[in-house]
Amino acid sequence: MRRMQRARGAPGDSSTLRQMRAPRLFVSDGLAVGQTIVLPPDCSHHALRVLRLRLHDAVTLFDGKGNEFEALLLPEAAGASQCRAKITRGGPVNREARLRVTIVQALSAQEKIDWFLEKAVELGADRIILVCAARSIVHLSAARRQRRLERCQDIAVAACSQCGRNHLPAIEIAENLGAALDAAQNASSRWLLEPSAPTGLRAAHGGSVALAVGPEGGFAPEEIALAHSLGYLSAHLGQRILRTETAALTAICALLALEGEYS
Ligand code: SAH
Repeated sequence: MRRMQRARGAPGDSSTLRQMRAPRLFVSDGLAVGQTIVLPPDCSHHALRVLRLRLHDAVTLFDGKGNEFEALLLPEAAGASQCRAKITRGGPVNREARLRVTIVQALSAQEKIDWFLEKAVELGADRIILVCAARSIVHLSAARRQRRLERCQDIAVAACSQCGRNHLPAIEIAENLGAALDAAQNASSRWLLEPSAPTGLRAAHGGSVALAVGPEGGFAPEEIALAHSLGYLSAHLGQRILRTETAALTAICALLALEGEYS
């Protein structure tokens, strides 16, 4: 189900960064201090065969709901391909961004979306809603949509493993642009990114922001009108036209900088 990925800790001497030096494994349920758990088969496989961890190695387990735990790998049960982990300590550790950012991203080629998704998760996006826009070159059948969603969720898990986030962002594929834009209605600021917009981004107030990014060909006029009718304001990101997969990342960094995230 989920791809597991080893994370190497960043240099630095804060205790939270030190804790991140152990390889991080995602286990969605059953984590609690004092417990010895059997790691799910894909997680065991990843730990032992892909990361080549050895028994008694230290690992960090995170549940995607805000918690991380230190644990030691224990010998496999006889004849089983799964290993166990004894959880020694841990609990909630928050490495979320200062702003809750929802991105409505128009679908484009898979490799672009995969790249965008990994970076958006690292940068701290809280919710990513993919959607087929009028000028998207990609259209997904229901079956492909489900496979694509699973792949996106795997990428999000891998990115969280790598960067130390303990909250898995929500990843969705919306039925249509109206539904996607509407899903982010609760954000206190909503921006439609448009190169020809007369004004730029402003600092978000209220702790949450939604960003809508068009496909390679940009949003169609009726989509821009729809977004405006749902309370989105058009904003530009400077004088150069960015690739669709660059635009949301630029906007997240800009808004987080305005929020003091990097101070
Ligand atoms: N030919 C299109 C450009 C599309 S770029 C046009 O002129 O509209 C793909 C998407 O990235 C755009 O729909 C927009 O959401 C975003 N984008 C790219 N560069 C941008 C900029 N400078 N300002 C705001 N949004 C930008």
